[in-house]
Amino acid sequence: MKEISCKLLVIGAGPGGYVTAIRAGQLGVDTVIVDFQKPGGTCLNVGCIPSKALIHAAEEFEKVVHAGHAKSPLGISVTQPTLDFPRTIAWKDGIVGRLNTGVSGLLKKAKVKIVDGHARFRDGKTVEVETEIGQQVIRAEAVVIATGSAPVELPALPFGGPVISSTDALALTKVPERLTVVGGGYIGLELGIAFAKLGAKVAVVEAEGKVLPLYDAELTRPVSKRLAELGIDVLTGARAKGLSTKGDALVVETADGAEKKLAAEKILVTVGRKPVTEGWGREEIELDMAGRFIRIDDQCRTSMRGIYAIGDVTGEPMLAHRAMAQGEMVAEIVAGHRRSWDKRAIPAICFTDPEILSVGLSPDEAKKSSREIKTGLFPFQANGRAMTRLGEDGFVRVVARADNHLVLGIQAVGQGVSELSTAFGLAIEMGARLEDIAGTIHAHPTMGEAFQEAALRTLGHALHI
Ligand code: FAD
Ligand code: NAD
Repeated sequence: MKEISCKLLVIGAGPGGYVTAIRAGQLGVDTVIVDFQKPGGTCLNVGCIPSKALIHAAEEFEKVVHAGHAKSPLGISVTQPTLDFPRTIAWKDGIVGRLNTGVSGLLKKAKVKIVDGHARFRDGKTVEVETEIGQQVIRAEAVVIATGSAPVELPALPFGGPVISSTDALALTKVPERLTVVGGGYIGLELGIAFAKLGAKVAVVEAEGKVLPLYDAELTRPVSKRLAELGIDVLTGARAKGLSTKGDALVVETADGAEKKLAAEKILVTVGRKPVTEGWGREEIELDMAGRFIRIDDQCRTSMRGIYAIGDVTGEPMLAHRAMAQGEMVAEIVAGHRRSWDKRAIPAICFTDPEILSVGLSPDEAKKSSREIKTGLFPFQANGRAMTRLGEDGFVRVVARADNHLVLGIQAVGQGVSELSTAFGLAIEMGARLEDIAGTIHAHPTMGEAFQEAALRTLGHALHI
């Protein structure tokens, strides 16, 4: 196979890599992208998109089941709802397929060359790709490493048999009767709640003192309440020790040091993800590391000239929108634009029930900055739209500097609050003060009014509470 040369080579077509390639292509940069999987990476194929599809299906099913069981306050009743799970999975796979085709189309439209295979550095400017039809050598002026991340495996619970990763969980063809989740973080709770709604008896084993340890207790309280309502058993301060001899239960060391067996048809291990820093010839080039991640500067440059790294392989937060923003920036840098990382905040959303959203600093983080702060919280119990959606559990909370009212952070927990991330993110990115949010007309009746009211409350004059 003959060698090809290009200005920019992108390794990995996840949200980081494919956005880099599309933007570079739009700017007229001669670009090649390599991946051995369908375009879209973890996010599109086995992450964000399929998990949100499953979460939505579970939510819809649970609503119908709930209407059938209890006396629905809405006056709706149904008899014997059933679930055709293979059809649910086929619908989810259909969405993934449509998006794969969409990303390929966007890459082609931007005149990006797609090479299907496994890339490996020969040296800082040359990469060899194992393709189905032989080896392809690619020489590039600039290379972007966007190899992403993979699930962490626990030595005592290697993946295989009943022990599954999030990728396996999203490909199940039957809802397990009993699902035990090890790790009560993002994936464990998002998928644990979804499977509980689909009919599985779910238990969650979390090593820390509370689930979702990343978020403060005020934010996670409504989620913990919902876990109990859904019949999900939560063991905190507990550690998974391994499979029982028969392989039908998880052995756990509980917070008080006792040993407990949790019967389980499937054990979903979601204890974090690790950057993919092996398998692509890192040893052939000299890259400084920052712990387990590739070290980058504020332009995503690595320690080696002409080599950039973006996305999960470069550190926390391992989120698709961070990878995409880095990718867009790097493409513009390669095209000769002056860019550097100047983002004020990266929104984080946990698609649990209810959803949790956090942008900028939490009250505790803001206090650590040693400035005096003000916070205000507006509960959805006092929001008309939330009431009409049976979504009164939750709130919007605003954190601002006490002296000039600059908004430092905004958090929310509640039904559908993920869609408020745009307003929260924009407020922080634009340097809004409490008065800017309080002075913006928020349409009525919407859950977003709670944002305006939280700002008003921080100023001491909320209207509807
Ligand atoms: P990835 O998406 O991991 O892509 C890396 C790509 O590189 C892969 O396609 C891989 O095949 C390819 N690759 C690796 N090595 C090579 C090589 N040697 N040669 C060629 N190609 C290679 N994030 C959110 O923001 N919101 C969510 O709701 C969300 N939900 C998630 C749910 C789950 C179940 C999981 C697992 C993750 C979720 N994430 C979510 C995280 C999100 O998926 C990642 O942050 C995002 O995919 C990172 O993008 P990336 O481009 O850095 O890497
Ligand atoms: P996580 O870091 O969110 O949660 C892992 C949890 O496992 C933590 O609560 C941790 O305390 C616990 N844990 C660690 N070791 C344990 C052990 N031995 N026994 C019991 N508990 C243990 O990781 P994740 O859920 O695997 O998700 C990985 C990453 O993927 C996230 O950090 C996030 O960046 C990304 N993600 C994002 C979203 C989203 O944006 N909505 C959704 C899913 C995943």
